[in-house]
Amino acid sequence: MRYKTIIGLEIHAQLQTESKAFCSCRNDSGESEPNYNVCPICTGHPGTLPVLNKNVFMMALKAAVALKCKINRLSSFDRKNYFYPDMPKGYQITQYFHPLGENGYVEIYNKKRKKVVKIRRLHIEEDSGKLIHEMDKTLVDFNRSGVPLIEIVTEPDMNYSDEAVMLLEELRNILRYLKVCDGQLENGSMRCDVNISVKDTKTGKSTNRIEIKNLNSFRNVQRALHYETNFHKELLQNGLSEPHCTKAWDEKDKVTRKMRLKETEADYRYFPEPDLPAVRIDEETIHRMQKELPELPSEKIHRFIEHYHMRYEEARLLSVSEDLAIFFEKTSEIAESSEVLKWILRDIKRYLNENNIALSATKISTEKLGGLIKQIKIGRVSNNAAKEILLQLMSTDRKLEDIIQEDDFLQQNDPDILSGYIEDIIAEHYEQYEAYQLGKKELFNFFVGKMMGLTKGRTRPDLIIKIVKNRLR
Ligand code: ADP
Ligand code: MG
Ligand code: ZN
Repeated sequence: MRYKTIIGLEIHAQLQTESKAFCSCRNDSGESEPNYNVCPICTGHPGTLPVLNKNVFMMALKAAVALKCKINRLSSFDRKNYFYPDMPKGYQITQYFHPLGENGYVEIYNKKRKKVVKIRRLHIEEDSGKLIHEMDKTLVDFNRSGVPLIEIVTEPDMNYSDEAVMLLEELRNILRYLKVCDGQLENGSMRCDVNISVKDTKTGKSTNRIEIKNLNSFRNVQRALHYETNFHKELLQNGLSEPHCTKAWDEKDKVTRKMRLKETEADYRYFPEPDLPAVRIDEETIHRMQKELPELPSEKIHRFIEHYHMRYEEARLLSVSEDLAIFFEKTSEIAESSEVLKWILRDIKRYLNENNIALSATKISTEKLGGLIKQIKIGRVSNNAAKEILLQLMSTDRKLEDIIQEDDFLQQNDPDILSGYIEDIIAEHYEQYEAYQLGKKELFNFFVGKMMGLTKGRTRPDLIIKIVKNRLR
């Protein structure tokens, strides 16, 4: 491979605290009424003073510990100065000189090969408000102003767009497991900027790094990187270059576009925030955090492969959500794990995707799924019937046995099996069949009687009549 792509990510994740970072306003940027969760502090009134929300710090610390960062014993806040209408203070409170965590790492598996992506830093900062452009006016909503964020900056350790997507997924899963961020790229609670450059390994020449801002889905990360990689290769092939700049992904035309260049190079004049004291963290707190971490997605994957003999891909799909992974293990205590896995990865996941809901929003339980799998095993319901029963178990409060009985899901009522029976009967009594076809309609009851015999009365007569009718027609 002559051209080597180099990718580094900058990820912003909103922390799921009750209140904002430096005031007691509710942390709910999805609030429908604009400028509802605001106060003099988060709207930057002169004379107000910020107070650090302890939970912001603890959640960020948890994330930093989970990402194996070295935690700075003294961590402090700084001002990043710039003017923008959604930021009324004229600066953003962030951590620049002494971030919370540095030099961590995340492991990803590209085609089963382990790859370590280093985390350069993890720091706390505040979100800005939102501008809403309408016709010839711009409105500003400060509900998001002061919402706590962590920014995670990786080293440029990724070489393929797939790896960038994997890393982003892994980070999202980790933050979700930690209950630190809900990780929804689509609604902005997690946002990703990608940095990319391409090196010509033959000449040693590299393109300048460009940064693509605010990608709001995994697919857009993939597409933007793919597009930009090709663009950089062309630059190198044609001996051209482009200065370091910031771009945006145009979702409609599927191209990256240079953002309007600022009049002057950004000069943030970082300096220590005088209104917030530095935070000292003791060893004990860090150790406690480490001990209290839940089993993280990659650890789960390895345990699942070892313990349940799953394939890597199965374990990965299962571990995407902690809910699903826990549900799997609990159900496996009462039913065969390979069957449980199959039902979860195939039918339950499909149901969740189609309805765009989490497992907790359904009515399924470990007992219900375990019970259903047992019913299949003892031959009381067929696989096909079980799929329909599962839909009922997911969406209603009905009991498994009630569904089986009331909706006639007992194996004997399975239309596939009944169709098989009628074929056997016709094959055995072909003369009668031909006679019926030639007009001897009274033979209808002959076939119904044979079916009754074969199903030993365990099948509803109207179902038998329907099947015989359809077949003889
Ligand atoms: P800035 O502060 O201007 O954004 P940084 O040096 O902090 O610049 O890097 C920001 C991001 O760019 C990091 O995620 C890093 O991994 C990535 N990066 C650095 N060098 C390169 C490069 N040559 N190619 C691609 N990405 C890079
Ligand atoms: Mg940057
Ligand atoms: Zn406020």
